[in-house]
Amino acid sequence: MRAASTLVLTLCACGLVAGQQPRSNALADSDLAALRTLHAAALASDYAYERVAYLTDSIGPRLTGSPQYAAAVQYVASELRKLGLDVRLQPVQVPRWERGEERAELVAYPGQAGEAIQRLVVTALGGSVATPPEGITAEVVAVRSFDELEALGAERVAGKIVVFNQPFDQRLAEAGHAGEAYGQSVAYRSNGAVAAARLGAIASLVRSVGGAEYRLPHTGGTSYTEGVPRIPAGALSAEDAALVERLAKRGPVRLRLVLTPRTLPDATDHNVIGDLKGSERPDEVVIVSGHLDSWDLGTGAIDDAAGVAVAMEVANLVKQAGLRPKRTIRVVAWAAEEPGLFGSRRYVKEYASELRKHAGAIEMDLGAAHPIGIEIGGAPSIAEVLAPVAALLRRSGAGMLRTGELAGSDIIALGIEGVPTFAPLQDTRRYFDYHHTPADTLDKVSPVELRENAAVITVLAYALANLPEMLPHTPRPRPAWLESRLRAGERAHFPFLPRRVSSP
Ligand SMILES: [Zn+2]
Repeated sequence: MRAASTLVLTLCACGLVAGQQPRSNALADSDLAALRTLHAAALASDYAYERVAYLTDSIGPRLTGSPQYAAAVQYVASELRKLGLDVRLQPVQVPRWERGEERAELVAYPGQAGEAIQRLVVTALGGSVATPPEGITAEVVAVRSFDELEALGAERVAGKIVVFNQPFDQRLAEAGHAGEAYGQSVAYRSNGAVAAARLGAIASLVRSVGGAEYRLPHTGGTSYTEGVPRIPAGALSAEDAALVERLAKRGPVRLRLVLTPRTLPDATDHNVIGDLKGSERPDEVVIVSGHLDSWDLGTGAIDDAAGVAVAMEVANLVKQAGLRPKRTIRVVAWAAEEPGLFGSRRYVKEYASELRKHAGAIEMDLGAAHPIGIEIGGAPSIAEVLAPVAALLRRSGAGMLRTGELAGSDIIALGIEGVPTFAPLQDTRRYFDYHHTPADTLDKVSPVELRENAAVITVLAYALANLPEMLPHTPRPRPAWLESRLRAGERAHFPFLPRRVSSP
């Protein structure tokens, strides 16, 4: 990551030499000393890793509305109380969906030996409707894009199972644009079932999103639209989607698909909100956060127990150092991010009148790998104010400041209201190999890199809490892609919102 850190001065919008800061909103020397203390302490602490380990190994997958999610709420709340925080559980009404049986097999294909079948690796997409218990069997149509599907037209698609074999652009991810690569593929996971159903297809299967090469299925939310039949939607492993496409080029392929997920009545989950009260301006708030829910195939270690644990670590380190922030540092573990940011949208509604007193919101939700700096969602002048913070973080390779559109996932809802938002800029080259797959487990979290992330977020949070003045709020219109996702109303399912993607 050396190349990236040399970009600090060129990409920093500040125009100042790092280490200087504008006089009007400068941290006191005592605050800068506290930041150095916190930075060193973060790089030596195992607190966050131990919390990730408990959330993943002991509690396990934390699907929205599940007993494990409720157990995770109790765990995080009790740990925050141990740190002396003022803890509130904010109720959030959430959709509930459970995975059932899932099976896919090729029952007829060119060159088939007798009655041999080929088992495929498949998983249901979040929110998918079920097939009949005995499954559906139909001929396959394999395409790479929506355009290809449209060109086939209803007469060649009706009654068939559509397989979208759109490859994930791993080279784009490796060039530092994993969010963009994800957005390109998620378009199919999110909208594939609707596009296929419009032409009369009876099921839709996408190639698993991500760069994994171990025949792993990748789940995630899918969408339906009013007036279009809801058809079962799943994901094949990348290898199996490619296999189906190759065989379909040689002749007719028939596939049997069994998916039996269930949609249950709404449930009540909770955002966990823990306040470390500010000494001088307790009504002004800095949020540090991650989302506590996860998909159910793995144990949600990098997505996003790590984000929650690092937010808890901020409170732990500040307490351990005997410091008291001037503003309130609020640790938030968001509910129901995966089915559609339900927890954070609930928060924005209930705290609407207090949002202008939110000095900033931080979230880590792109894994736990090495951070190279901070992504800023807000006014370009914020980078100037944070120049001394960046100078300190350069010690652990995280000195880059980049001002983007909207940082984070849950905190997008706050960013739209004008609250400055922040996320660690991370090495995401391998993130989508594991994200939403059975392999999102504790071993994917490097203890050293988790500490580096804790250092970034702790130093940033404490700086935001102690700046003499609030940072400027810059309300922004909802991006069009978000608007269209929300149009169907509060109950709409829409997947994790990749950043910097104009139209996923
Ligand atoms: Zn996430």
